[in-house]
Amino acid sequence: MGNDRNILNELIVKFKEVNPFKEVRIIHRPKRVIYYLDRISAKDISNFYKGILPSAIQKCVGQFGSYDIAGLYTLPDGQNVIGIELRPNDPKIDYPKRLKTIELPETDLLYCDLTFDCIPTTEVIKFGYKQAQHMFETSGYGTIQISQEHYLYAIHYEGKHSRILIPIIDQTQKFRLTADYQSMSKEEIIEFTIHDPGMEPYNWTYMFERIDNFAADGIADYAYVYFDIKSFKVYKVNFGAEAAVNHFNRIGQAIEDTDWIYAGARCDNDNFAMMIKDMPREEMRLNLLKFFDSLSHVPEDPFYRLYYRCGVVEMRTALNTHWGVTDFAKVAHKMCGGFSETEICFYTDEMWEHDLWGQKVRTYLPTAIDNDEFVIHYQPKYALRTNRVIGAEALVRWNYHNEEFLYPGSFIPCLELDTSICRLDELVLHKVCQQIREWIDKDIPVVPISVNLSRKQMETVNLVNHLERIVDIYNIDHELIEFELTESAAYENQEYMLSVLNDFRSHGFLISMDDFGTGLSSLNLLVKMPLNTLKIDKSFIDLISSKNTDPKNQVVLQHIINMAKDLNIKCLAEGIEEKAQVAKLKSMECEFVQGFYFSKPIQASDFTKLLIRQK
Ligand code: C2E
Ligand code: MG
Ligand code: MG
Repeated sequence: MGNDRNILNELIVKFKEVNPFKEVRIIHRPKRVIYYLDRISAKDISNFYKGILPSAIQKCVGQFGSYDIAGLYTLPDGQNVIGIELRPNDPKIDYPKRLKTIELPETDLLYCDLTFDCIPTTEVIKFGYKQAQHMFETSGYGTIQISQEHYLYAIHYEGKHSRILIPIIDQTQKFRLTADYQSMSKEEIIEFTIHDPGMEPYNWTYMFERIDNFAADGIADYAYVYFDIKSFKVYKVNFGAEAAVNHFNRIGQAIEDTDWIYAGARCDNDNFAMMIKDMPREEMRLNLLKFFDSLSHVPEDPFYRLYYRCGVVEMRTALNTHWGVTDFAKVAHKMCGGFSETEICFYTDEMWEHDLWGQKVRTYLPTAIDNDEFVIHYQPKYALRTNRVIGAEALVRWNYHNEEFLYPGSFIPCLELDTSICRLDELVLHKVCQQIREWIDKDIPVVPISVNLSRKQMETVNLVNHLERIVDIYNIDHELIEFELTESAAYENQEYMLSVLNDFRSHGFLISMDDFGTGLSSLNLLVKMPLNTLKIDKSFIDLISSKNTDPKNQVVLQHIINMAKDLNIKCLAEGIEEKAQVAKLKSMECEFVQGFYFSKPIQASDFTKLLIRQK
């Protein structure tokens, strides 16, 4: 028992370190039925934590109508069972015959993702449960409480990743619904409606009404502003929920104290909206920057800074519709993408078009995949000394609706806005592997093919295992696949990135750094990265074209080539378009090249001919 307690303490310390959850969200679940196995053994539980499920449960995982992954549940009577939640009464579902069931009411759940590797035992869960209760009691997000009525909770565990589901009730709603309006004065009711509990800034109800009033009065001389706080979750994790509420209140106060702000309110979480006085654009930008600058400091730490992401719609430019402004401002707001400074973005109609196009592309993507609208072109890579094809880069093209031929520049940035790009990247990998398999089966000499990895994909949990599973379907040597990672992706979360890269290498895949020289290069990091190839960005190669005769232009390029050699990394120059560049690269002893001068990206059939010719 003593030993158990030590382990427990250790787990709790770990639990606290992660504060305690990686991510906490609220999800809504309709009525469900848990199909479960009771009288489970300690072995079953230990297997559960290894990701091995009893076969009766395993069968239902991922089945149509199942909610989430299988879980270890503690039922209201205290017994532990392993089960899975299924939608009730659906003729399309193949319900397990021999399992017991318990019906779950419609509920909101606290959905807590844990990061660390320790096993979430019942004690740890109970501790987390208390932590969550405390977190919500002091949070600025309403008065959410852990449900006392039924205390069933579930652990969902998949290898290293675990998740706890805890039923909750939203006291705010309860309170609002049961509030005794009869005994309130009119002022009290209004006050109650336009403020969220514990919050000084007005809420969205207030703002909505103000916009409506402005519209009714035909007032058009204002700008509508929508903003949020960058990485606010990190601030909240560092300093706690109370600090977060205090910061919201400071924003509320600043809105009150600023004379050019007509009205302002907190919409939800850390999102705010304001109606401000119309003024020339530059003046407006400066005023807003000053406003946000005054709200960048926090009392908890003199060195900590908060930055803002802010979209502005000037009523003059917003087609003069009051109703559109809220959406327009969100579109402008979305354009601010950085992490380390306050950004202010003014709405334009092109942004709207661009946003609509992006939504169209993301919505249509699954159908386009089903219709097989994507094709892969291959751009050969050559050894400069021998002129032999030593590989190729797979570049995707889209036969959009089988009517229009689209290049990646017009759709990849849109797909990168959510996780859609991961679906496309996986498809490209499938197609490339399928092609390599075909070459091998036809005895055509193969070369490594590189596929581009989007920055979003790098964030996927267990990325390398996931990609490996795809490659292994085709039974292909891992050394025939190279992953190209863009430089900017590598510099955001360096430790994590290094661990992913090492993972790629230990599984035998090749990796290259794409567009080198365009990102925020840190040479220190380059030394640590287990790269096979450095792809020098076209912008450096442009500098040695026949138009650019200044010998100074070669200096940086020559240094990059030398440095790569010293670090034992292969060096490939991208985007070569003319003979003059080839000669210079030869004299600089660059080993590998890729560019229109040698070959444009070509269809698979043409690339196959190239390989055969080279046999
Ligand atoms: P990238 O990975 O840097 O790919 C090289 C791009 O430069 C390709 O454009 C290629 O056609 C172009 N290029 C090659 N040689 C020359 C040259 O001599 N002159 C000029 N002007 N351009 C040259 P593409 O195919 O339009 O691809 C653009 C970008 O889209 C790629 O840049 C890559 O970042 C992304 N991309 C393409 N396919 C995929 C994909 O399957 N997944 C992901 N995530 N991104 C992809
Ligand atoms: Mg590339
Ligand atoms: Mg590139």
